[in-house]
Amino acid sequence: MGAGSLGGVSRREEIAANLTAVRERIDRACEAAGRSPEVISLIVITKFHPVEDIAHLVDLGVTDIGENRDQEAGAKMAELDPAVRSQLTMHFVGQLQTNKAKSVVAYADCVQSVDRPKLAGALDRAVAARAGDAGGEASLDVLLQVDLGEGEDAGRGGIPPAELTHLAETVAGTHRLRLRGLMAVAPLGLDEEGTAAAFARLADLAQEVRTTHPEATILSAGMSGDLELAVAAGATHLRVGTAILGSRPDRR
Ligand SMILES: *Cc1c(COP(=O)(O)O)cnc(C)c1O
Repeated sequence: MGAGSLGGVSRREEIAANLTAVRERIDRACEAAGRSPEVISLIVITKFHPVEDIAHLVDLGVTDIGENRDQEAGAKMAELDPAVRSQLTMHFVGQLQTNKAKSVVAYADCVQSVDRPKLAGALDRAVAARAGDAGGEASLDVLLQVDLGEGEDAGRGGIPPAELTHLAETVAGTHRLRLRGLMAVAPLGLDEEGTAAAFARLADLAQEVRTTHPEATILSAGMSGDLELAVAAGATHLRVGTAILGSRPDRR
């Protein structure tokens, strides 16, 4: 099926079929791992895809979406029908410059890519500034992105495991950020065994963080190509793009 080439109804059906297939993959992976599918949240990564696709997704029962670039994400969130927007939890999953913190906290419900103390500080101040405007007690859910690349620069972002405890303390010490868990992208170029080992390492780190921060229960791992391995390792949140929305034009 050609992506979008047959008009709105067909695009909706295409997304619906892909969504069903992914949900079946998740169900099978849960069954194999002896886990309940109800504990898994599916986040559809909508980067590079138009805002109409987000409306289709909501219509099809999707509750969580993710984006990785501030400019694109902000524009799409502004464009979304407020009634549709209010049904969604929006996750920011991309590498983030501190000068974009203010922009991101205006639309994101969760920032999954906190990878350095300086960014945590910038996000905390941005949430406080917003809360001040609204006179409220606003807070922001955040995940710490971990680099599972074993020192090799796989270019996928995240804090080295050795610095994770310090970053967790920094986030926990802010007024406005709520430390909800960890996120990682599997290093590039690993086979199944290597990816499984990387996710197992992530799960160990998550358990370590939870001994001092019990509220950090989220484990965000697994994408279109490796969601089964992430479910086996204990992921609670999967971030799936291509398998649901089709391939993205490479704009980098
Ligand atoms: C794009 C992206 C995904 C989704 O990847 P697919 O392979 O398309 O499923 C997941 N996580 C992050 C951080 C991404 O940038």
